[in-house]
Amino acid sequence: MSGSRLMRAIRVGEFGAPSVLRLCPEVPVPQPGRGQVRRPVCGRGQSCRQMSVAVLKRLHIMLIRVYACGVNPVETYIRSGTYARKPTLPYTPGTDVAGVVETVGEGVVAVKAGDRVFTTATESGGYAEFTVAAEDSVHKLPDALDFTQGAAIGIPYFTAYRALIHKAHSKAGEAVLIHGASGGVGVAACQLSRALGLRVFGTAGTPEGMNLVVKNGAHMAFNHREEGYTDKIMKATDGRGVDVILEMLSNVNLSKDLQMLAYGGRVMVIGSRGPIEINPRDTMAKESSIMGVVLFFATPEEKKECAALLYAGMEAGWLRPVVGSKYQLDKAAQAHHDIIESPGAAGKIVLTM
Ligand code: NAP
Repeated sequence: MSGSRLMRAIRVGEFGAPSVLRLCPEVPVPQPGRGQVRRPVCGRGQSCRQMSVAVLKRLHIMLIRVYACGVNPVETYIRSGTYARKPTLPYTPGTDVAGVVETVGEGVVAVKAGDRVFTTATESGGYAEFTVAAEDSVHKLPDALDFTQGAAIGIPYFTAYRALIHKAHSKAGEAVLIHGASGGVGVAACQLSRALGLRVFGTAGTPEGMNLVVKNGAHMAFNHREEGYTDKIMKATDGRGVDVILEMLSNVNLSKDLQMLAYGGRVMVIGSRGPIEINPRDTMAKESSIMGVVLFFATPEEKKECAALLYAGMEAGWLRPVVGSKYQLDKAAQAHHDIIESPGAAGKIVLTM
């Protein structure tokens, strides 16, 4: 591959509103070689010139031609500069790409050039025509899934698995409420919960979203914008409550979640965008627990276990990522705006190259 090859990539040169996501047309394609990568120097603008790939000087890395990249809410928090972990500026966002392996670096054995793959992390950023990823973050993409579906697997499905299995220790026969089931994590959680033999309840904010939730494994769907929907959920469990709640908007729902739990119930805090007041006594009434979930803390062993189960789901056919909206790479700023500001999720938002 020629070292002078250029690609289009989104670069963030300062934290702020979605408009800081700039399409840079001439970023050199990173070069994984014998354990090292040539530092890209952009023909235009400092933000591209400063692209940091020092971390690429490692074994077991590869270059991937990206066809699609998932957009996750966390990428908007990081871009705005309000998130706890901040990348060094400038940077290219994006962890969940799907594409084709272009070149492999030294030590890579699990995949080869030409293989269709998806990733759970990248080293150089996924909002780009090419990205570099480490072997332990790259998985083969089955032929039955297209690239946009492949880009919808990473954070959503691995988070759903972490919450349901590693944190909530959910068991077949238990009842789970996926509170916010129409988005990326929610759809993944519906499919996974149903495959694992749980009784699945999901919420969405629109009739279309509720329909999607039922199509993807929920036994029943409820509208979280409707007055009295929590009563309907309680009625659906004959007043017993649910064993597990996967909560996507804890700052709105945590207090009422505690009322909807069965004895020994567990609320998994997956998403939260602010504070909320709760009555701790509500946890005593049912000896219930509230637990935070952060995918970032998953160990390599946990990720391996999760990948194995998800792969089995792809082979068996129950794991079918649902892509809601697709945006071209140059519309990344619009995608960031919409994922936070436009209600009525209908699956995953992805960028296409
Ligand atoms: P998404 O695709 O944007 O979906 C957001 C979901 O929240 C939609 O189903 C939406 O439903 C729902 N929602 C909106 N208002 C709600 C309400 N009042 N009550 C319950 N649900 C409501 O986002 P995502 O990728 O699924 O992520 C969901 C949350 O989890 C985000 O906050 C994200 O940052 C977080 N997350 C955390 C981790 C972690 O490691 N902890 C990992 C991934 C994601 P409607 O649009 O139909 O109203």
